Amino acid sequence: MQDLLSIEAWGLGLHSPLTIAGPCSAESAAQVSQTLDLLAEQSVDVFRAGIWKPRTRPNSFEGVGTVGLKWLKDAGLKHGKPVCVEVANVKHVHEALAHGIDILWVGARTTTNPFAVQEIADALEGIDIPVIVKNPVNPDLELWIGAIERLYRAGITKLAAIHRGFSTYDKSKYRNRPHWEIPIELRRRLPELPLLCDPSHICGRRDLIPGVAQEALDLNFDGLMIESHVNPDVALSDAKQQLTPAALSQVLASLVYRQPDTEDPIFHNKLERFRGEIDKLDREWIDILSKRMEIVREIGHYKKANNVAILQAARWNEIIETRLAQGIPLDLGENFLLTLLQSIHSESIRNQAHVMNGAEEVIKVQ
Ligand code: PEP
Ligand code: MN
Repeated sequence: MQDLLSIEAWGLGLHSPLTIAGPCSAESAAQVSQTLDLLAEQSVDVFRAGIWKPRTRPNSFEGVGTVGLKWLKDAGLKHGKPVCVEVANVKHVHEALAHGIDILWVGARTTTNPFAVQEIADALEGIDIPVIVKNPVNPDLELWIGAIERLYRAGITKLAAIHRGFSTYDKSKYRNRPHWEIPIELRRRLPELPLLCDPSHICGRRDLIPGVAQEALDLNFDGLMIESHVNPDVALSDAKQQLTPAALSQVLASLVYRQPDTEDPIFHNKLERFRGEIDKLDREWIDILSKRMEIVREIGHYKKANNVAILQAARWNEIIETRLAQGIPLDLGENFLLTLLQSIHSESIRNQAHVMNGAEEVIKVQ
């Protein structure tokens, strides 16, 4: 996908880092124009509003429909800003295009469905419009990339991705867990694809938005999409996460935008020295892990000779307790240590199972 265009090349006068803002849903002509009039005074580059809302339960507000497209487009024309909406099917695409919407986005629920994405891609064949693809609701990078590929194969080269977090059944302080490793891997796989972050849908509540937005900028994302409503408390969707335009202005002013890199030779010199130290330490721990695994295999032969089971729960427990007790005071995070130990332990078990039975499969131990 090397011919993907940068945001600067979309022909809309936009540049990275991009700020998209507007209400979760268009609710009335007044709500759209009041919100966007206020946002036009901020450093907002593109207006957003949901016209057709993918709601979990059928008795919720499902969007105003086509009438809202005009409200949004009028505000865009009034303030000279491009506007974007979510499209989930071919009808949405046709109506958005007929109303001169400048940018389309594919929502998280749609990205999960290859049939729906393919229909949208087919409807867009030969049409020159930027399309932004939100991640699927489930943490599945291939599905996200697959949706991007379907649009690309339809000839869309003005593409971007939006990270909006991933839903989970268990409780978390986030509405949708960020799983930063997934957008980071997307960036590695498709470095030319502009990548935005939607902290509103990750957080689900206003107070967490600045931290997540800053984290995205620190990871060199190309911009943010943030929900804003003139009166969030009475919003018909996503009331808890929407910011007033004034609050959004404060958040934007508090963010530190970092440069992707610098030309400064002194900086690079020092960075190279730090990186040299990291490279050396990485070589050391890989060496140590390899030696550790040799001993693990020897133990495997010994257990086999004595017909003793691989998993020794008491020993595993002791390893967790002692290593956490050593690592936590050394400023290593508990979750990090646990994940690392679990990974080493699974690999040890896989090695011993191979020694005992020639078994190849990884046995997961929690
Ligand atoms: C939205 O942006 O309002 C929306 C519905 O988002 P998502 O598809 O990320 O849930
Ligand atoms: Mn929303």
